[in-house]
Amino acid sequence: MFRSFLIKYGEIAIKGKNRHVFEGALIRNIEHALSPVEGEFEISAERGRIYVAAAGDFDYDGAVLALTRVFGIVSICPMRQVDAGDMEQLVSDVLTYVDAVYPDKRKSFKVFTKRADKSFPLDSQEINAELGGRILDAYPEMRVDVHQPEIRLHVEIRNRVNIYSKEIPGPGGMPVGTAGKAMLLLSGGIDSPVAGYMISKRGVTIEAVYFHAPPYTSERAKQKVVDLARIVSRYSGPIRLYVVNFTDIQLYIYDKCPHDELTIIMRRYMMKIAEYFAKADDCQGLVTGESIGQVASQTMKSLMATNEVCTLPVYRPLIAFDKNDIIAISEKIDTYETSIQPYEDCCTIFVAKHPVTKPNVNIIRRSERNLSEKIDEMMEKAIQTAEIIEVS
Ligand code: ATP
Ligand code: MG
Repeated sequence: MFRSFLIKYGEIAIKGKNRHVFEGALIRNIEHALSPVEGEFEISAERGRIYVAAAGDFDYDGAVLALTRVFGIVSICPMRQVDAGDMEQLVSDVLTYVDAVYPDKRKSFKVFTKRADKSFPLDSQEINAELGGRILDAYPEMRVDVHQPEIRLHVEIRNRVNIYSKEIPGPGGMPVGTAGKAMLLLSGGIDSPVAGYMISKRGVTIEAVYFHAPPYTSERAKQKVVDLARIVSRYSGPIRLYVVNFTDIQLYIYDKCPHDELTIIMRRYMMKIAEYFAKADDCQGLVTGESIGQVASQTMKSLMATNEVCTLPVYRPLIAFDKNDIIAISEKIDTYETSIQPYEDCCTIFVAKHPVTKPNVNIIRRSERNLSEKIDEMMEKAIQTAEIIEVS
């Protein structure tokens, strides 16, 4: 029924001179999102609008689903595009549209005409009145409601005529690739995939790092993280994932440091290694799934202790979110079912019975001196042996 879509975008339209950069990124991301969808699509930009047109048969539902994942899109309007002709031609096209899209005619409507082509003999108001009257003549069960119409029938007269009345909400946000790059610390839990989704919704390109501890953590646990990265990449675009073998470092910390400080110290080394990869790849920040008070390692004091080792800014999009709100997002973006698969992660294995909730940074630093003999060498090795997986 529909062969093309009008793509509306919001925030980016206000970016003045930068608009072309944003539109370019949005078009590239739309192309990427549609590439696995059956069909051939042509994407074009014209006066603050983006159009997606299918060349022949295509997977309509697949295309809509793909478009609802492209950040920057505010709404997706399936439309009929017809050649511009005279008023009689327009009436006939509009009646055909209404008949095809609304088999049940017991609906209220209002016509919204925009006339970019000023050579058309009637003005917008006159076209609204004429089309409204002719629709009522043809379909007497319909009625006009100018205040709260069930159908908002848009008729745009440009080089061609666009007719649409359905608006499917897009995800909003900014096109990925327009706001820099960040390194996500991605675990197999519920929170960090959501954090990655949220930061990339602001237009940030993401890479990720996962710390595993074989044989304490299994190959399945790692696969789960790859799967999560793949789901997030439906929104964010391709993600480079570093998989770091953290076993030796963890055992060394376990051996040398007080057990109630294990989690904090471990987190500090995770941050340092993540920052190494972040800097090497020109990222401008780190991203975690932390939220104040969720667990002992996420009290304000613990966050302060973890943060202290970083020189890049650390972004924590979930910082003030309740778990339920985070779960709601993870369900919406489809990471939840994967996140709750019961594979151990490296934090749960080496976790102390009574972790410190108010770590003192000076004490933590002093404990870390016990690691001075081998830690640099171990970090170096962890970095050198990291496996790189390009996820898309
Ligand atoms: P998540 O649900 O994201 O695993 P969490 O509630 O389990 O979070 P923690 O285990 O304290 O919380 O981890 C806090 C944050 O630290 C995570 O959101 C993630 O960004 C990072 N992190 C924790 N473990 C790992 C890991 N093994 N690899 C990479 N990042 C990790
Ligand atoms: Mg976790």
